[in-house]
Amino acid sequence: MSERAEVLRRLGEQREPWDVVVIGGGATGLGAAVEAASRGYRTVLVERFDFAKGTSSRSTKLVHGGVRYLEQLNITLVMDALRERGHMLRNAPHLVHNLQFVVPAYDYFSLPYYGFGLKVYERMSGRLSLGASKLLSRKKTLAMLPGVAEAGLRGGILYHDGQFDDARYAISLLRTFLDLGGTAINYVEAVGLLKRGGKIVGVQARDCEEDTRFDIQAKVVVNASGVFTEEVLAMDGAAGESLLAVSQGTHFVLPHSFLPGDAALMVPKTADGRVLFAIPWHESTIVGTTDVPVEGASAEPRSMASERTFLMEHIERYFGRRPRGEEIRSMWSGLRPLVRKGGGGKTSKLSRDHTILVSQSGLVTVTGGKWTTYRRMGEDTINQAAGVGGLKKVASRTLGLKVHGWTEGSAAMAEAERVYGSDLPLLQRLSDEDAALDTLLHPRLPYRLREVVWAARYEMARTVEDVLARRTRALFLDARAAMEAAPVVAGLLAKELGRSDAWRDRDLQQFLDLADGYIYREE
Ligand SMILES: Cc1cc2nc3c(=O)[nH]c(=O)nc-3n(C[C@H](O)[C@H](O)[C@H](O)COP(=O)(O)OP(=O)(O)OC[C@H]3O[C@@H](n4cnc5c(N)ncnc54)[C@H](O)[C@@H]3O)c2cc1C
Repeated sequence: MSERAEVLRRLGEQREPWDVVVIGGGATGLGAAVEAASRGYRTVLVERFDFAKGTSSRSTKLVHGGVRYLEQLNITLVMDALRERGHMLRNAPHLVHNLQFVVPAYDYFSLPYYGFGLKVYERMSGRLSLGASKLLSRKKTLAMLPGVAEAGLRGGILYHDGQFDDARYAISLLRTFLDLGGTAINYVEAVGLLKRGGKIVGVQARDCEEDTRFDIQAKVVVNASGVFTEEVLAMDGAAGESLLAVSQGTHFVLPHSFLPGDAALMVPKTADGRVLFAIPWHESTIVGTTDVPVEGASAEPRSMASERTFLMEHIERYFGRRPRGEEIRSMWSGLRPLVRKGGGGKTSKLSRDHTILVSQSGLVTVTGGKWTTYRRMGEDTINQAAGVGGLKKVASRTLGLKVHGWTEGSAAMAEAERVYGSDLPLLQRLSDEDAALDTLLHPRLPYRLREVVWAARYEMARTVEDVLARRTRALFLDARAAMEAAPVVAGLLAKELGRSDAWRDRDLQQFLDLADGYIYREE
């Protein structure tokens, strides 16, 4: 029996209620699950697609307090996030690192204004500071941001923030949860809530691979379904005013040559008042993001023409030239679940704070927030959930909990390998035992065949997309290269999972159709 079949059998046969069931395997759900399991609660997490398939693999990859929120005077959010940033760096040094950011100043007012603001930002992080912020001369700014537009440049401001690999962090949180004795399964969705006497006593689940249904009894259910939050609230019978505003953000990935140094560029206010980043990531440059209100949620959001135009225009403004179509190696969009505090208005002004709601029937819903604050969200959620489920009171211990793979001294490694942390020697052993697995997936991608085998055996990858989008970041780094590598990945994955040729071909085609949407085409 495969490991997945064994988990499904256990879930189906379990009669004793679990302490906690978490719906949703993004940053929020995984954070809550780790929090619950680390307190000793028997916890199950169900994810209807793959872990981090939603917003949590589509962020700007910043572990940050949020300079913009400081300008909005949301001091508590910034303080909380800066504290979490420091702890993420300590607990997951293989996944998070300190990055230098430079704000280029094109007028004399910007230098003192942002210089002062970023000094305050640095001071707010206290002993968890990542380094001093300082004013830079024009010459030093150009040295740190080679290629940045020179006309009118007066100087710059240097500050520090964190950067991470979001989907790899999610997979490492999954492994942390499993290490703590938790049970997690992807491609299983919550389709209903079990109720007795008006109180929620579990979840009706559907195995999306086999289209079979089963019940999971639980003392408390946590709804961490991101932009799908209202779907789950509707299962609880909630109707009426909508809780969330959904905002889309799109990024382009360009060759490293657009920003060849080690520092990131940050524009605090574009002509239309947005924040824009250009960030080195896995030997490439990410540029983003946009902030556009959209109607409703979708699992695979697509960029809009207006977002592509915005990014093109701003790349041209700050780097002096428009990228050619083929230089945009990938583009992806993500949806922010933003909590409405009454009234309409621009989504960029809505709160990035998290909200926890407990319904009359005991559904604990957590939504909003940021990747950076996932741990704090998990702690607050499980504090509430423990009360609702009548669980034994246990204090949180996640602030100092090391994330799976934690290791010292991996900073010098290439990013694609560093993310495996202490697992790297085990991954390398796969290709020591079978030299064929040492082959690169593609000349433009920093991954080898062994990563495919590893993802299937130890990281619950079920599809080519899981491997190329989230276990490796191939699709996000270079969509064309990912498509070219996909047939080999499909063959190897089918072999690992004991799948038929028909399954392999279908899964490959599904990936190719999806990946096509990550390719920029001239308009
Ligand atoms: C463009 C953009 C850039 C961002 N950049 C940053 C950044 O740089 N730094 C930062 O800190 N934050 C950033 N954020 C915010 C951050 O990414 C989100 O706050 C976070 O990822 C939300 O995680 P989540 O788990 O709530 O949602 P999701 O990641 O969407 O997870 C929800 C999960 O629930 C699953 N689900 C839904 N319904 C069901 C069901 N019925 N049964 C089972 N599973 C279900 C979904 O499939 C999904 O996987 C950014 C967001 C966006 C959109």
